[in-house]
Amino acid sequence: MEHQNLVRKIFKEVILPGNCFHCGLCEGLTNNLFKMKESKNGPIPNLIRKPLHKDLKDLKKIFIACPGRGVPYNFLLSKGKAKNKNNIIGNYNSIFTASSNSKIIRQNGSSGGIVRTLLLEMIKKNVIDYVCVLNEKKNKILKFDTMITKSEFEIKKLSQSIYVTTPVLHKIKKLKKNKKYCFVGLPEHIAALRILKLKFPNEFSHIKFLIGIYAGTNMYPGAINSFLSANNIKNLNEVKKIDWRYGEWPGKLRIVTKDNKELTLKKFYYNYLIPFFISKNCLITPDLTSELSDISIGDAWSPKLEKKGFGYSVIISRSKYFDKLLGQLETNKKISLKKIRLIDCINMHAHMIEFKKIGSYLRLKFLKKMGPVPSYDLKPQNVSLRRQVIEKCIGSIISICSIKVINKIFLKLNPRFLGFVFEILRNVWKKISKSTKRSGLNKIKFSKVNNIRVEELK
Ligand SMILES: Cc1cc2nc3c(=O)[nH]c(=O)nc-3n(C[C@H](O)[C@H](O)[C@H](O)COP(=O)(O)OP(=O)(O)OC[C@H]3O[C@@H](n4cnc5c(N)ncnc54)[C@H](O)[C@@H]3O)c2cc1C
Ligand code: SF4
Repeated sequence: MEHQNLVRKIFKEVILPGNCFHCGLCEGLTNNLFKMKESKNGPIPNLIRKPLHKDLKDLKKIFIACPGRGVPYNFLLSKGKAKNKNNIIGNYNSIFTASSNSKIIRQNGSSGGIVRTLLLEMIKKNVIDYVCVLNEKKNKILKFDTMITKSEFEIKKLSQSIYVTTPVLHKIKKLKKNKKYCFVGLPEHIAALRILKLKFPNEFSHIKFLIGIYAGTNMYPGAINSFLSANNIKNLNEVKKIDWRYGEWPGKLRIVTKDNKELTLKKFYYNYLIPFFISKNCLITPDLTSELSDISIGDAWSPKLEKKGFGYSVIISRSKYFDKLLGQLETNKKISLKKIRLIDCINMHAHMIEFKKIGSYLRLKFLKKMGPVPSYDLKPQNVSLRRQVIEKCIGSIISICSIKVINKIFLKLNPRFLGFVFEILRNVWKKISKSTKRSGLNKIKFSKVNNIRVEELK
């Protein structure tokens, strides 16, 4: 009975209210009980057979590690070994801006090509046997899979950010216990794996390292379809290749059709699709930087570096191993590395950090009136009335954009025009909300919340 009860709870608390983070753990930890299935709102676990008593052990693990039930970040961070405690970017040892010194890796990287540089070095040094990374399925457009590989050639090819909700943990059971793996994932993937590693250390010791990438916003697959349709491409079958960060940093969305037509859109113009297709999971998590990783990588958004171009990453090293590896890579001239202060790191992403730390709290407060929401163990203190009004405006814009008729009318317009208008509105909006958001961030203090998630993990 307990197994049926757990399945019922996963559906009731997570899947049915739309709190699934699409991580793929449901499929990854069970034997053909769940299968991730594509839906308009991202991939969702579907039950493909009746749960049996023999599934109980796996179901217990899913229930405890499911990010859709919430993640007690404060509690989990207190178990880490990083030197500096921080509730905004997660605990850390040191912070850098960096770029790969390999022209090819840097050129086709999302930011500075650091993720692949780290993976290649760990494989070369035999610190790990395999990397687990998201990759496009061969000859399939908008279909992705986790690739488990140690091939230098394959790893080098795995560049680019994939801005579509995609499972990453659905192959976890296939990993061999006598091999060592490094996972690359978004905050939700990293959080689920960290919980498993803490709660079941022996069973998950083969997942040795967690490389987290920053994730501000992600989108449902409809975003690309809509962009194609606005460009008179009716079917995905007409597409040969999609790159979200093609060319020089910050890169642009580039779609090549089978008849070699090339559609491009500046990265920041592509953001016009965000209010229409933003995935719910990135609205209800307080984690931008993959706080529970061993090392986190994002774009080093600073006016000075953006002016230089080429591509720069921001790195938050949270473990002694990565501190040392970064030092070695710098000494061997494989990367260029510059230490930065916490405040510089925060300023690079101030708007997005605020969107996560205060915005998600306000959104969850509102959503809680309608049903279950994920539970977190920190809440921001004294959120100003002005900030609450700003949140209402953001919420209203997203709600209006999700109305079918509005959606249809707007998305028929020329994407370049929409992107241009969106960019102007975004800058105006950033200016209006800057003082409220920045002051909120400077003064932000959190109170601890004791909830069931903390209790479950103790
Ligand atoms: C959905 C999404 C949102 C993001 N939002 C932000 C943001 O708001 N601010 C910011 O600074 N950075 C953000 N990033 C991170 C940024 O785009 C780069 O991925 C990061 O800077 C690493 O760059 P790199 O050049 O070192 O990586 P590369 O060397 O180019 O390697 C990229 C790695 O990322 C992996 N990867 C790509 N997409 C995914 C995915 N969807 N899920 C799991 N793994 C993936 C690839 O498999 C590869 O291993 C986001 C990334 C994604 C995928
Ligand atoms: S968030 Fe992950 S573990 Fe939770 S229901 Fe969704 S796929 Fe399953």
